[in-house]
Amino acid sequence: MVKIIKVKAIVSILLFITFLVTLFSGIGLMISPRGKVANMTNWIFLGLDKWQLLKVFWERNKGKINDKSKTELKLPVEIDGFKFFGLADRVDTLEDGTVEIIDYKTNKKPIDKDKREIQLGFYALALQKLGYKVSKLTLDMLKLEKPVEFGLDSEGEVTSLNGREKGFTLQEVKEKIIELAKAIANDYEQGFECADDDGACRFCGYKFYCPKWDE
Ligand code: SF4
Repeated sequence: MVKIIKVKAIVSILLFITFLVTLFSGIGLMISPRGKVANMTNWIFLGLDKWQLLKVFWERNKGKINDKSKTELKLPVEIDGFKFFGLADRVDTLEDGTVEIIDYKTNKKPIDKDKREIQLGFYALALQKLGYKVSKLTLDMLKLEKPVEFGLDSEGEVTSLNGREKGFTLQEVKEKIIELAKAIANDYEQGFECADDDGACRFCGYKFYCPKWDE
């Protein structure tokens, strides 16, 4: 039994490292200028090469990942009649049975406060809907000195564990995403002005429905 658990843990860790290598390589390929792809074995990404980033990741996470850790966890949920879908980079089960949500970023600069709260808050709301007890939200910015960590209590209050970031509540996040969903539904029904700049459409989640890209 112990052997099976150990094998599962090793396989989980290897799969996770593979996921990270793929993630970093994918982002690098996406932003790398054409013609440089052939030199990828020596590429430098945001000032750190891929092995340095992996080293940072491993030093921060080697004591945390276990056979219960889940990666790229799909989060399809319905909130107030709207269907949402998210993909959590990693969800760890802690010793007390609660879970920690971990999102990775390779940005050089800290993420905008509102975007950070909506992303982490949505993951927490979704996991709660799926029956998990969430106690910690972590934004692991591998390029920055320390991860940004928040604790979540049973009342939905999110507070910074480092004492640096302002807290928020899951209720506030819920209100913001519902307001956004209503605005999107309204624009979809009533019509909206398409962006002139194709660059704005590059990562748009509504491209599939957008009249601009209707063939
Ligand atoms: S694809 Fe998205 S960003 Fe581009 S015009 Fe359509 S809705 Fe706007």
